[in-house]
Amino acid sequence: MKSILAGAALLIATTAASVSGAVTIKKSDFGKMPDGTPVSLYTLTNAKGMEARIMTRGGVVVSLKVPDRKGQLTDVVLGHDTLAEYNADRGTYFGALIGRYANRIGHAMFTLNGTTYKLARNNGENSLHGGLEGFDRRVWSAKEAPGGLELTYRSKDMEEGYPGNLTAVVTYTLTDDNRLRIRYTATTDKPTVLNLTNHSYWNLRGEGDILGHLVTLNADRYTPVDSGLIPTGVLAPVAGTPFDFRKPNTPGARINANDPQLKLGKGYDHNWVLNRTGNGLELAARVEETTSGRVMEIYTDQPGIQFYTGNFLDGSVKGKGGKPANPHAAFCFETQHFPDSPNKPAFPSTVLKPGEKYDTTTEFRFSAK
Ligand code: BGC
Repeated sequence: MKSILAGAALLIATTAASVSGAVTIKKSDFGKMPDGTPVSLYTLTNAKGMEARIMTRGGVVVSLKVPDRKGQLTDVVLGHDTLAEYNADRGTYFGALIGRYANRIGHAMFTLNGTTYKLARNNGENSLHGGLEGFDRRVWSAKEAPGGLELTYRSKDMEEGYPGNLTAVVTYTLTDDNRLRIRYTATTDKPTVLNLTNHSYWNLRGEGDILGHLVTLNADRYTPVDSGLIPTGVLAPVAGTPFDFRKPNTPGARINANDPQLKLGKGYDHNWVLNRTGNGLELAARVEETTSGRVMEIYTDQPGIQFYTGNFLDGSVKGKGGKPANPHAAFCFETQHFPDSPNKPAFPSTVLKPGEKYDTTTEFRFSAK
């Protein structure tokens, strides 16, 4: 009787594992940080063979293999082969989690409850992607979660100039219907500002450039910028401009148009104001690559998306296999709150207070046509 029960328990346990997603998770070493901290690489594989490799340094999506219309798997994100290359690269943020504040804060300062906080000026006179040692350069602690990986980073009070001890927990989940879900949660012990995202560079063909990918952005407006790429505060209509991606179009069609905003960004490097109807996950962007048939749809609960066409990639940084990352080799779709929100009271607030829980989700849904 006892052994029958044990057998039944085993059966239930096995079933439970497959219900939570038949995702297998493997852990391997990815080297050591300069101070000796070990970095792990987790490989998540679903029943269809889609595979995500994520490392604990920066929570970086190191590779993502996605099937094309024939089932052929190709890595669709840019990255490096080694940890040393990731650490040496201070400009691209390939695949990384960005915090505390994704994108720019103007003049590298903000005022919260009467106190002015000064940040590192690491992008002209502005602060970009959380400062000199942002969340992208930190080693997160990791544990396996159903269908994925849970990463935790504790950011100390005044780290990179931001107030409050903040605990950030990011969960990557791979589903059997080929979705990569990223859930970001955080709590703080003092009021702070927070804007987390993932900085993956996508190329759904896995080679060449992205100028011919078909892009749709579910946004009637975007936030024009000044010469430092800080939003002016205006929410401008996309209608009649090269920023109108409400119908599928390629970035290449208008990237060289005589438009002052495109000149400032050296291409597309702007925040689109997403059309939203409620608080849940809604379609933000759709990308289609017609030779492979790969389609990526991005769903989020966030108010904005930074669409960046890899304009500052200049071939000086080498990607996987030593291949130079050339201009427009890939593009980023960073779901987010608007850049410089801490200095723009009219933008949706990025303030997180003690007792509140930051909780946001973005899903990358893959299919083939
Ligand atoms: C920014 C770009 C920047 C890139 C890499 C993007 O989020 O909008 O201006 O060059 O990240 O740092």
